[in-house]
This record gives sequence, structure tokens and C-alpha cells, in this order.
Amino acid sequence: MNEINPRAAEYAEFRKPVRELCAQFDGRYWQQVEADQAYPEAFVNALTKAGWLAALIPEQYGGGGLSLTAASVVLEEINRSGANSGACHAQMYIMGTLLRHGSESQKNEYLPKVASGELRLQAFAVTEPGTGTDTTRTATSAERRGDRYIINGQKVFISRVQHSDIMLLLARTKPIDHSAHKTEGLSIFLADLRAQPKGLTVRPIRNMVNHETNELFFDNFEIPAENLIGGEGKGFRYILDGMNAERILIAAECIGDGFWFLDKARAYANARTVFGRPIGQNQGIQFPIAKAYASVRAADLMRYEAARLFDQGKPCGGEANLAKLLAADASWEAANACLQTHGGFGFATEYDVERKFRETRLYQVAPVSTNMILSYIGEHILEMPRSF
Ligand SMILES: Cc1cc2nc3c(=O)[nH]c(=O)nc-3n(C[C@H](O)[C@H](O)[C@H](O)COP(=O)(O)OP(=O)(O)OC[C@H]3O[C@@H](n4cnc5c(N)ncnc54)[C@H](O)[C@@H]3O)c2cc1C
Repeated sequence: MNEINPRAAEYAEFRKPVRELCAQFDGRYWQQVEADQAYPEAFVNALTKAGWLAALIPEQYGGGGLSLTAASVVLEEINRSGANSGACHAQMYIMGTLLRHGSESQKNEYLPKVASGELRLQAFAVTEPGTGTDTTRTATSAERRGDRYIINGQKVFISRVQHSDIMLLLARTKPIDHSAHKTEGLSIFLADLRAQPKGLTVRPIRNMVNHETNELFFDNFEIPAENLIGGEGKGFRYILDGMNAERILIAAECIGDGFWFLDKARAYANARTVFGRPIGQNQGIQFPIAKAYASVRAADLMRYEAARLFDQGKPCGGEANLAKLLAADASWEAANACLQTHGGFGFATEYDVERKFRETRLYQVAPVSTNMILSYIGEHILEMPRSF
């Protein structure tokens, strides 16, 4: 089949090796990992060893020092191969908080080890059961006692904790009613998860995709004071700082999914013969695929535009949000067209379509839900009143 992405030749120095690496992990690998409800350890290790998950860590700390555009291409290729970046993408954007706001000694201590794979930093604990999307209401507390912070509270849907050595944690160092503004008083910590830490209970949440996510219960969990990242009380600001990169990277994953679904759909539409002709000859099958192709291509333009602005150090909040919104919608549209094209076989696990269908649906909800992006566009671009 011909390549349908006209930009597939760009960034070939990253695309090609990532594509080759991913080719070693075919549909059967992902089916087995899911059947075992396992973490794709071999896949994540191979990506780490090849340095791809350290793409955004500067070279001085042992990383690849790549642009965000190049890093986004890495994630796009992972998803386009039929794999799922959800197992490992967080390392790329989580480490940005450490890089931008960590002290020099924290960066020297952790970043080279994250880059080499000696330490895995794949978990970021923000969401709480009682507050959900309203991060400013974070209730998990961090109380300073001598040279430690004592953490108490609960988090939910915290991914990859069981496969991370260190985790970033958002907690309240000042109660909200003692803070001048609701965004103040939140802080970010680096929690060490090695050696079964005392005061932390991890309860896995079975969910729609094979995504290791968990409830966390903190009961006098201790973090050394030196593991506070940046200034106390400034954690909310630090989270916002990382959002543009996260949204652009997630958009690229959606684009990868979109092209994967389109490739699968057109191949099946051409090969499957019913009523004596390929089903793709029927416009009822052909047009939804064509329409999804238009959506994926359009979203891809916005993704490159957002990444370009980011790499030039220019404001890109609007474009990053638009890219994530359009790309998540486009991949979902392509997923739907692909599933429909496959008829009953779309539901058979061996075709991988139903797995990818479930996986791409998640992008409408996490890491950020579509409504929050629409709300950003309404308020910050279109200057309409804030709704919450
Ligand atoms: C598989 C998975 C992995 C995840 N991994 C992580 C992780 O690693 N770390 C982490 O911190 N979190 C993680 N999350 C949590 C995820 O970020 C949240 O689920 C998401 O932010 C929504 O929060 P919520 O589920 O509490 O929904 P709620 O806040 O309860 O919202 C429910 C729905 O209402 C909508 N809504 C709420 N308020 C408004 C409003 N004012 N206007 C319009 N719509 C609104 C939301 O958009 C959403 O669609 C994960 C979630 C899943 C499902």
C-alpha cells in the first residue's frame, strides 16, 4: 500500500528507527500483553534502551536533546505501528517539570538516570476522587515536619505507578482557605517508590484498556524535604507550564492512531469482497474513511503548527489545545470508520481494531478531557466568560 501521509518522509532519522523497533512488537505481542493484563515491559525497555523515551532530556543530562516536534514524531510512530504510547509516554512530558523547575542537584541526580533507564519516571499523581478535573481543590496534604513532608490523602487513576521508580506528586502545602488564591498552596514532590515505601497503598483499577492505573492511599507517607520541586506553593503554575508540551505530544499519538486506522480500513475495504465486489467500492464504506482521512490530515497540520511554535519558544497554548482537540476527534472518527469497515471482524481481537478503538477513545478523557479544551478555547481564544 502507498504511504498516505505526505509528511511521512519528514524526520526520517527518527521515524525509521522507531518504526523498525516497533515492528519487532506486532499485533500478537500486544494481544498477549493484554490477555495477560501485563505491562509491555519488553517494549518499554527496548524504547528506553534506544534512547527514545529520553528524547526531550537535554544532552548534558544524557538525553537526546530533541525538539518537541521530533519527540512528537517518536510517539506518532509508536501509535502508528499499532502499539500504544500510553505505557510510556508520560516520561517524556513529566520530566519537563523536573527539568524546568528542579534544582541543579535534583536534575543532576535524576535526569541522567531517567535518560539511561536506570530509573523510570512514568507516574504523575494529580487526580483525586473528590475533586476530579478541579485540580485547584486538591486535598492531599503535605505537612512539613523537620526535614520531611508528611503526605496524607488519596489519588485516583494514577498510571504506571507499579512500573515506576519515582513519581511526581501534587499535594497541598497550604490549606485552600489560607491561600490568597485557589491556585496557590499546591506543591510538587518527587516521591521515591522503590523498596515498598511505608504509608503508601496502591490499589489497581481494572479498566477498559490494558492501562496500569491505580488508586493511591497516603497515610503519613514521608518525602524528604529536599524532594520538593521548585518553590513551595507554586505547583499549580508548574503543572500549567507542562500542558502545552503534553497536549502536542498526545495530539501526535492520536495522529499516529488515525493513520493506523486509515491504513487498516482501506486495506480491508479493498480486500474484502461481498456481493461480488470489494466493500470499498460502496460509497457507504468509502466515504467515512475518506472523511476521516481529511480530519486526520487537518489535525496533523495543527499539531505541526503547535509544535513549531513551541520549538521556537513562542506562545502556543491555543494551538496546543486545538491540536489535541482536533487530533483526538480525528482518531476517534477514523477508529469508528475502521471498525465499521471491518464488520464483525472489527470485534475480533486478532485484528487489533477493537483494542486500538478502545485505546484511542481514552484520549477524549485523559490526560485532559475534551470539555476542558473547549472551555480553554471559549475563554482564552474567543474571550467568552469562564464557566467554572
Ligand atoms: C486510564 C486513565 C489513566 C489516567 N492516568 C492519570 C494519571 O496518570 N495521573 C493523573 O493525575 N490522572 C490520570 N487520569 C485521570 C484523568 O486525568 C481524569 O479522569 C480526567 O482529568 C477527568 O477527571 P475525572 O475522571 O474526575 O472526571 P470529572 O472531573 O468528574 O468530570 C467528569 C466529566 O465531566 C466533565 N466536566 C467536569 N467539569 C466540567 C465543566 N466545568 N464543564 C464541562 N465539563 C465538565 C469532564 O470533562 C468529564 O467529561 C487517568 C484517567 C484514566 C481514565
